[in-house]
Amino acid sequence: MAKRDYYEVLGVDKNASEAEIKKAYRQLALKYHPDRNQGDKAAEEKFKEAAEAYEVLSNPEKRSKYDQYGHAGLSGDASSGFGSGMSVEDILRRHFGDSFGFDDLFGGAFSGFGSSSSGSRQRSHNVSKGTNLRVNLKLTLEEIASGVEKKIKLNKYVKCKDCNGTGAKKGASYSTCTSCHGAGYVTKVTNTFLGQMQSRSTCPYCGGEGKIIAEKCSTCNGDGIVKSEEIINIAIPAGVSEGMHLTVSGKGNAAPRNGIPGDLIIKIEEIEHPYLKREGNHLIYNHFLSFPEASLGTTIEVPTLEGKAKIKIPAGTQPAKIMRLKGKGLPEINKYGRGDLLVNISVWVPQYLTKEEKDILQKLQKSENFIPKPSSSDKNVFNRMKNLFQ
Ligand SMILES: [Zn+2]
Ligand SMILES: [Zn+2]
Repeated sequence: MAKRDYYEVLGVDKNASEAEIKKAYRQLALKYHPDRNQGDKAAEEKFKEAAEAYEVLSNPEKRSKYDQYGHAGLSGDASSGFGSGMSVEDILRRHFGDSFGFDDLFGGAFSGFGSSSSGSRQRSHNVSKGTNLRVNLKLTLEEIASGVEKKIKLNKYVKCKDCNGTGAKKGASYSTCTSCHGAGYVTKVTNTFLGQMQSRSTCPYCGGEGKIIAEKCSTCNGDGIVKSEEIINIAIPAGVSEGMHLTVSGKGNAAPRNGIPGDLIIKIEEIEHPYLKREGNHLIYNHFLSFPEASLGTTIEVPTLEGKAKIKIPAGTQPAKIMRLKGKGLPEINKYGRGDLLVNISVWVPQYLTKEEKDILQKLQKSENFIPKPSSSDKNVFNRMKNLFQ
């Protein structure tokens, strides 16, 4: 099924402010919250869909990418997107855990945090986050034209297998943190002239986890992550360009003790083509004709990204003429249509002549047909250059 537009999912318009997006998400999250829709699969899907939309639209960098390129701008690989990779638990932790604040989101809808919100899910606990991983990916114009699947070798933090990411030595038991009694946070009450204000901060003793490992895993020293090499397959969509960033959610560094992994951010670099120069979605190729070829006409072969193409050059072709091969340029990302290949005709003027050649040319010089008589279109060289890239 095609992915729905994120703005449509949240029911906000394209110019919605950060606050409007947050408000719309809060309403949807309340409506489809798993606690209120036990076992309702459709509600769970709606909840996930809204979380994914919020994830993107609340992040200015991701939002601008989405506005420009749609879903394809966010991830090279549709199957590794946020929605499919995240469980309800992950979403609750990510959006309703430390960064967003359960109370912040739900306001007075749920009464306080204390006992009611620190339920079995422990969603109010602080959850660690993995860092983003950035890699540069070099692509040829041919690869950009068709789109390509790439294997990328990553040196990154992955979950420690010996402790399954928990950081605890096998069989080691946990004890409830004595400082916060398992809540993961400590509450401070301050008296202000508006009344009592409660604030909450991460428990410094257990780092917000609410529990303490009795014996650490010796492989990862209790972190739950280790450095390792990983090879991943990424489908790069056709039409990307130099400097573009593709974000693959959840493929960055693993987070300590089974937290939320960071993102993988792929920066596109173009490998220069030996003959073709890119200008937006158009390609430019410069071809030199010999002087006799230009005056007598010929057929030339030009390189394209899908092999060679033949072009007929009519007799009397002037230098700086542009021959346009429609649709032989690059596709536009996430859209239909392709750019063109523009062949610029140059004419080679001999740099050295034998005596015999000189004699022939001197004879021709006087000939009527060799005297320049440019037509109005030949004179209109500036207009032609202006129209080139339209
Ligand atoms: Zn370990
Ligand atoms: Zn604690």
